[in-house]
Amino acid sequence: MKYLFANWKMYLKEKDALALAKLLRGMKLSKKVTAVAMPSTLHVSAVKRLLGKVPFGLQDVGAVEYGAATGESSAFEAKRFGAKYCLVGHSERRKAGENDLLIGRKFATALKAGLVPVLCVGETHDERAAGRAIEVVLEQIEAAVKEANHLLETKKFIVAYEPVWAIGTGVACMPKDVAEMHLIIRKELSMLVGEKGQAAPILYGGSVDPQNVAEYLALPVVDGVLVGGASTKSLELKALLKILCSQP
Ligand code: PEP
Repeated sequence: MKYLFANWKMYLKEKDALALAKLLRGMKLSKKVTAVAMPSTLHVSAVKRLLGKVPFGLQDVGAVEYGAATGESSAFEAKRFGAKYCLVGHSERRKAGENDLLIGRKFATALKAGLVPVLCVGETHDERAAGRAIEVVLEQIEAAVKEANHLLETKKFIVAYEPVWAIGTGVACMPKDVAEMHLIIRKELSMLVGEKGQAAPILYGGSVDPQNVAEYLALPVVDGVLVGGASTKSLELKALLKILCSQP
């Protein structure tokens, strides 16, 4: 299975999100491709009505199940509402102040709720320049796995490698560096989580577009892509999905 997560962030007005939802619903995808809509929380309800069977998710969830958490969205309510996935630890949330412990709690709560969390990990430009990319990514994974603990033995989850310097910049990561990091992540997941760690899909994200997506999909270690900017433009989203469907 190859995934395309369309992270619309807070880019879109409702009418544009609805148009993309219609586009996703209307596309005939290969059975080996899953496209997932990730609208902003405000648009989830309206988008859901147009998606048909296309799965959707939240861009973030709260760390607690229910309670005094102003402004947050409950993973349990998201699940009840029909969401299948959620992002946790997106670099734009990390930049806004979320640390590994909080992200780990969100990851655990999402798993408990029955969502499939996409744990986003990745190093900054300075961390890569200092030769610390691998160390940083492994630390982020270890922290999340520690919080989720035994939940990972039975629940599904996904990891997205998203180097921070590649997100929204137009500077995509070289495929050879993506391959290297994905292999390291796979090894770490297998060591920490055993069989479920072997099975967890690993996505690449960071300035993916129709011009470069095939290079990533050609890597056997890449199970799909998490796409921001390009997924908010109908022509690019369509082109990306066509390329995904045309992969052997
Ligand atoms: C993202 O939002 O996770 C992302 C990868 O954004 P972009 O594709 O715009 O770099």
